Amino acid sequence: QVNFIALNDGSTINNVQIVVDLSNFDEEMLKLITTGACISVNGELTESIGSGQAAEIQAREIEVLGACDNTYPLQKKGHTMEFLREIAHLRPRTNTFGAVFRIRHNMAIAIHKFFHERGFFYFHTPIITASDCEGAGQMFQVTTKNLYDLKKDENGSIIYDDDFFGKQASLTVSGQLEGELAATALGAIYTFGPTFRAENSNTPRHLAEFWMIEPEVAFNDIIDNMDLAEDFIKYCVQWALDNCYDDVKFLNDMFDKGLIERLQGVLNETFVRLPYTEGIKILEEAVAKGHKFEFPVYWGVDLASEHERFLVEEHFKRPVILTDYPKEIKAFYMKQNEDGKTVRAMDVLFPKIGEIIGGSEREADYNKLMTRIEELNIPMKDMWWYLDTRKFGSCPHSGFGLGFERLLLFVTGMTNIRDVIPFPRTPRNAEF
Ligand code: ATP
Ligand code: MN
Repeated sequence: QVNFIALNDGSTINNVQIVVDLSNFDEEMLKLITTGACISVNGELTESIGSGQAAEIQAREIEVLGACDNTYPLQKKGHTMEFLREIAHLRPRTNTFGAVFRIRHNMAIAIHKFFHERGFFYFHTPIITASDCEGAGQMFQVTTKNLYDLKKDENGSIIYDDDFFGKQASLTVSGQLEGELAATALGAIYTFGPTFRAENSNTPRHLAEFWMIEPEVAFNDIIDNMDLAEDFIKYCVQWALDNCYDDVKFLNDMFDKGLIERLQGVLNETFVRLPYTEGIKILEEAVAKGHKFEFPVYWGVDLASEHERFLVEEHFKRPVILTDYPKEIKAFYMKQNEDGKTVRAMDVLFPKIGEIIGGSEREADYNKLMTRIEELNIPMKDMWWYLDTRKFGSCPHSGFGLGFERLLLFVTGMTNIRDVIPFPRTPRNAEF
């Protein structure tokens, strides 16, 4: 009499079938081989007569390295994503998360390969920063001060002179400003590192700790920037299909029957390129025809994800690069257009995701940049080094930020960003 063990070492979605002739093994030892147990098998690899696999192993020796009792939470029945998040320390052992994290690895490799092959340098920007001009309000502070005994000045402001860095410091929200320094020196660079945002947005697309890829290229204008973004995403998607097909197919079949079709769709389509103003017109027309949005649509509004997804999924039915946004809703460093109202921003909008990339051509002119900074009352005391790029041999340059987990949402078809990073950090959640 024979029995079968489905063994998996984590390297692929596919199990290897172990054929066990029960008469050759100790019954007590076999009882220890339960779901989740760790075993070592020696035997002969043979062609399989059964369907479902080409080969199998005829076991000669089996050793139980780690038994697993029946309190193991991952029994064979299906589990909800919510439940699996509560056991994030064990979920990489499930076939779903094995697939997701193998794809995550492969995407990281694809990103480095893409940029390296094109002569970009991987540049490391700091994780701890003292410049708060971009993310004021949503930064995590870094301090070694005793929070029970904070010294304050006569206005009640905390004194940071005696803090570790001698000033207020935070975790970075973006490596872009330092990336710009590098681009004006090395030509083309990219960053790829963790980013932190204390935004209290409990959505399926926001994490408090996420990874961002930020290329920055000297002499690129916004058109070059759009070309780069489109080539880059297509390269990554192609890479997933070429190198992770088994895992992608598994996720397609288990969760999202349209996944592979959507990935191939993106490869075959050219992305729509559309000014924000035109996008607003399309949305207003939709509203006039009776389409209901939760949030209002008007020129000047910061588009909500429902608006972005309407343009992509319902109107154009392909990815859209929206450009030339109102300057009021975009960052101070974006290049100002002649019209005095818009800036050379570009957001790449994707099906199911909404914004996947945010970028721009940067304002290269010192005076225009300073005027904008003054208009916005941005505290620039710690930013003299950034302004030096515009003072000394300034050049046109452009770049963008791609949220790594947003890319992974797209490539895996997962619907919650908490399920494409091993240990999600979100408001009120930093377990594991
Ligand atoms: P959103 O409007 O979706 O909140 P944003 O405009 O604040 O994003 P940017 O500052 O442009 O985002 O950051 C560049 C990219 O980083 C975004 O296009 C997105 O892919 C990613 N990103 C931004 N915030 C988050 C977050 N909290 N979690 C995961 N990815 C993020
Ligand atoms: Mn953005």
